[in-house]
Amino acid sequence: MYDVAQVRGDFPILSRQVNGKPLVYLDNGASAQKPQVVIDAVTRAYSHEYANVHRGLHYLSNLATDNYEAARAKIARFLNAAPDHFVFTTGTTEAINLVSYAWAAPRLQAGDEIILSSMEHHANIVPWHFLRERQGVILKWVDVDANGDLDPEAVLAAITPRTRLIAVTHMSNVLGTVVDVAAICRGAQAKGVPVLVDGSQAAVHMAVDVQAIGCDFYAITGHKLYGPSGSGGIFIHPDRMAEMRPFLGGGDMIRDVTRDAITWNDPPMKFEAGTPGIVQQIGLGVAIDYMTGLGMANIAGHERALRDYARARLEGLNWVQVQGNSATKGAIFSFTLDGAAHAHDISTVLDKRGIAVRAGTHCAMPLMQQFGLTATCRASFALYNTVEEVDTLVSALELCHDLFA
Ligand code: PLP
Repeated sequence: MYDVAQVRGDFPILSRQVNGKPLVYLDNGASAQKPQVVIDAVTRAYSHEYANVHRGLHYLSNLATDNYEAARAKIARFLNAAPDHFVFTTGTTEAINLVSYAWAAPRLQAGDEIILSSMEHHANIVPWHFLRERQGVILKWVDVDANGDLDPEAVLAAITPRTRLIAVTHMSNVLGTVVDVAAICRGAQAKGVPVLVDGSQAAVHMAVDVQAIGCDFYAITGHKLYGPSGSGGIFIHPDRMAEMRPFLGGGDMIRDVTRDAITWNDPPMKFEAGTPGIVQQIGLGVAIDYMTGLGMANIAGHERALRDYARARLEGLNWVQVQGNSATKGAIFSFTLDGAAHAHDISTVLDKRGIAVRAGTHCAMPLMQQFGLTATCRASFALYNTVEEVDTLVSALELCHDLFA
């Protein structure tokens, strides 16, 4: 039995007030709050167990290295990957840039193609635009339909002999659509095309198995997974890793350096130059323990109930337009209100009532352009949200309707 009241007790920030009202935190798609165990782990690491990793032969350095590598093993297990196939980064943005610089840039020629869906986050668009600008790579876009669904067959139909990569989100940060990435990977693999999956949103809400998905790259970001900001990383299939040159150069990623030559360390360290986010990644390991302790199936069940309740309540407001109505939609609701109110005005009214939502283009401008939108509000739910908070949101939207209609 999932006890949301008990779960909420694990997150100290949830008991604070904002603007004199109890905080209703519905901006989890942007970043999630942290349980006390993660805060304690970060404090403990800095208070008692801190030194640089992989370098020292002294006690604290060995302890920090053990903790850091244990975190890698946990996070890799969370994705059903081997530890050596998981590279730490500061999050998804760095992870996708790593693939762009280290794998794609040296391999792709002018006229080669990368397939993207229209609902990608800018983190999975801009690194590929760099290759378009610098190397003449062609970006091929596959639109989602009006419901926000991405048809795997449409993605596969866009493959040509020049396709070198498919880069696609597992879950839209705007519409909440969960994409059948396994179907895309199956079809792409049959045609020899690698697939990068942006798991920033999906990994928070469902169990992820990169081997069952069959992807070549799977990026996650720790700050959405209840871990510290600056944590995260990417699963890289060993065949792709073998094809990659290093990204950043510096300490730790080398074996030998002379005046004339360098040799690389083994992966994954070959792709981790300099002092990494030691404590951040240790904190992420503890956040993963926290989530798996609750059970990913239990979290998913709780969030499905929240999604169904929020969907029904928002559908009852005929002056609210929820964007995207996929059957696979998760608990992410982007919406506009009838009338002239801008999303920023709505979010300001909600903020006065202690409700945190995101307003704007959600780093997904091509999707907004496809849907003819300039901005939306987004309420994104997490494992600690409640149906009562949905009611609070709906009451506040009714107030907005009265104010702005
Ligand atoms: N991809 C998606 C789908 C996201 O929602 C986000 C964050 O909002 C990102 C990528 C960027 O992740 P990060 O914050 O780790 O750079």
